[in-house]
Amino acid sequence: MVEYVGRFAPSPTGPLHFGSLVAALASYMEARAAKGKWLVRMEDLDRPREQPGTTDDILRALERLGLGWDGPVLYQSARAERYRGVLGDLLARGFAYPCACTRRELEDSALALDGARIYPGTCRAGLPADKPARAIRLRTHDAPIGFADAIQGWMEQRVESEVGDFVLRRADGIVAYQLAVVLDDMDQGVTHVVRGADLLDSTCRQIHLQRLLGARLPHYAHVPVAVNAAGEKLSKQTGARPLDLSDPQRELARARRFLGQSEDRWDLARVPRARSLAPGG
Ligand code: GLU
Repeated sequence: MVEYVGRFAPSPTGPLHFGSLVAALASYMEARAAKGKWLVRMEDLDRPREQPGTTDDILRALERLGLGWDGPVLYQSARAERYRGVLGDLLARGFAYPCACTRRELEDSALALDGARIYPGTCRAGLPADKPARAIRLRTHDAPIGFADAIQGWMEQRVESEVGDFVLRRADGIVAYQLAVVLDDMDQGVTHVVRGADLLDSTCRQIHLQRLLGARLPHYAHVPVAVNAAGEKLSKQTGARPLDLSDPQRELARARRFLGQSEDRWDLARVPRARSLAPGG
């Protein structure tokens, strides 16, 4: 019986770069060390931000790096019906509600840690007359939600006051990451989530949803995010260079060093307890 199911869930907004390699490698090594499964899932819901061909580029890069996955790749874009079904159910049970607020109308609300506005609850008790529904939000509560992260330690959040009722379906009709990731992890039987610490602040929201949906809670380990000298997360937008796939061993060695690992052994306890780090050469 497999007791460990891990995953790597890239968003195909650009080719694999050093930052995504770090998340891929850490989740892969943990799964292999536990003799578990390692799944790959394409988080391709945000079609407008997607570059054609990127999905295949990412898969070819993983192959080239020797990071072989188990089973078929799951594409979020193929799961619209599942997401819609759960949204309808959450609405029917009163856990979610339609919201008419525009971005502009929320401009006066305080900022959450992730830079989004803390939702003040305007449409909680019902849509204002004459205003059409735009997004769908989840009704949150303020009892603290906590979890023990295997790298970062104990994390806790009061979701209602620190985030607010968050979006499950955006005004453009696209299902929000928070809902998709929870349903995918649940349906794929993921037991261990190893990913970048930029998602640490999303985890309590995800746990709130998992509890509502009766999911088994996965274990979490958030590895430091690779940042540039200015402290910005490495990404295509911040000018991260694509991986040099002509020398995969060199890129892997660099990622291993970033994760605090020796050449020959994987040990999660050696991963630096930091939310972000600038990689060395
Ligand atoms: N798709 C997300 C990203 O590329 C990762 C989601 C997750 O691991 O939960 O940042």
